[in-house]
Amino acid sequence: MKTANDIRRTFLDFFAKNGHQIVESSPLVPRNDPTLMFTNAGMVQFKNVFTGAEQRPYSRATTSQKCVRAGGKHNDLDNVGYTARHHTFFEMLGNFSFGDYFKDDAIAFAWNLVTKEFGLPADKLLVTVHSSDEDAAGIWRKVAGLSDDRIIRIPTDDNFWRMGDTGPCGPCSEIFFDHGPHIAGGPPGSPDQDGDRFIEIWNLVFMQYEQRGPDDLIALPKPSIDTGMGLERLAAVLQGKHDNYDIDLMRALIVASAEATKTAPDGAHAVSHRVIADHLRSCCFLIADGVLPSNEGRGYVLRRIMRRAMRHAHMIGAREPLMHRLVPALIQQMGDAYPELNRARALIVETLKLEETRFKQTLERGLRLLEDEVARLGEGQPLPGDVAFKLYDTYGFPLDLTQDVLRTQGRPVDESGFKAAMDEQRRKARESWAGSGEATTEKLWYELKDELGATEFFGYDTEVAEGKVTA
Ligand code: ATP
Ligand code: MG
Ligand code: MG
Ligand code: MG
Repeated sequence: MKTANDIRRTFLDFFAKNGHQIVESSPLVPRNDPTLMFTNAGMVQFKNVFTGAEQRPYSRATTSQKCVRAGGKHNDLDNVGYTARHHTFFEMLGNFSFGDYFKDDAIAFAWNLVTKEFGLPADKLLVTVHSSDEDAAGIWRKVAGLSDDRIIRIPTDDNFWRMGDTGPCGPCSEIFFDHGPHIAGGPPGSPDQDGDRFIEIWNLVFMQYEQRGPDDLIALPKPSIDTGMGLERLAAVLQGKHDNYDIDLMRALIVASAEATKTAPDGAHAVSHRVIADHLRSCCFLIADGVLPSNEGRGYVLRRIMRRAMRHAHMIGAREPLMHRLVPALIQQMGDAYPELNRARALIVETLKLEETRFKQTLERGLRLLEDEVARLGEGQPLPGDVAFKLYDTYGFPLDLTQDVLRTQGRPVDESGFKAAMDEQRRKARESWAGSGEATTEKLWYELKDELGATEFFGYDTEVAEGKVTA
């Protein structure tokens, strides 16, 4: 069996053999991009290379990029545990051409790697192209010999990538693997495409235009290539599994979680173990890249992920902090490919332990309160906003944690009521400051707050933090 580690190696070696420079993954906190919450794709570290603002000594590169999608535009947090294909942390394998090769080679590389090097059966694969891109359809027909019914034309922006309102852009082409009719879901472009039967494994972006203004699109003289393939999705296919969480790497973490809590890895607690395994990876990698739990911005996203994992640990009966005990299993799986995990080992363990120890008590009390409140509600009746706010304010429950708890009951939270309660508390806080007569201090305080964003005192403001950093 090819392990996830073997597959990463094979991918990078294939592109190295084909003239690509192997480039290290960039950190999860983007170096030059304050507008982006976390690195969420392989191309992020090459943004300025694509626009021409930065020169590199190579025109072809390949990477295995650490990605987190838990905040901002790409947020897969709520999918974790429930779909077969989403993680908050995953590795994106990619090959890049900076004005070097284009569509013909990109498609040929992808097809050869997937069908020859990895040996996937061609009859289980189908591809999408953008409806405007007859070029790509023609190349797929020629290179892969795919019949027209396996080349699906997508008219929407799903298959048209843009860096932003201006900048490089172009059509996409995606490779899907058909896991078989025993799984629910339709082919891409069909009404039930969000099922997990046809899983997107690889996304090729053909950057051939530049958007210079709302109606000003020009063809680039030297088009570029950006691709991304989820290592875990590819591993699932190659290991004969449907579900990302059944691959060797994820399974090892799930088993570690099950052993540490003396529970069965499958069955009643399966979702919790999946969430714990996933969140363990995002938390450890974020801490290794310098993010620490806090009440704002990136640190708050980390805290939310940690607390969600802790809630699941609590649900499966862990009475002592769990997450820090799983770090060795993660390092065993991923420490060779990502030595930063080893370097930050002590910090990771201490941070997880401290956060979990602190949250443990209020978690238990908050869950009890929530249970009492829910008992008073009718079926499907939303949880009142002031209760969600109390849980947030007094018990440290991020809103999405409360929502996650109620998800299995199909019970929503009155979000506008939650917001109103938050605003009301702020207004009161302001009033009491004004009443103290220290106008100068107060002014200073608010100026500072505006500069630094929401502070611990005011709690977390989704709008402030998301307005500052979004994907
Ligand atoms: P999907 O439609 O399945 O959510 P996507 O179109 O959002 O995927 P891209 O932005 O195209 O994904 O990212 C490139 C590749 O990265 C995808 O083809 C997939 O293999 C992988 N990928 C994307 N999101 C995730 C995730 N949350 N977990 C694991 N792999 C992912
Ligand atoms: Mg997605
Ligand atoms: Mg997609
Ligand atoms: Mg895609």
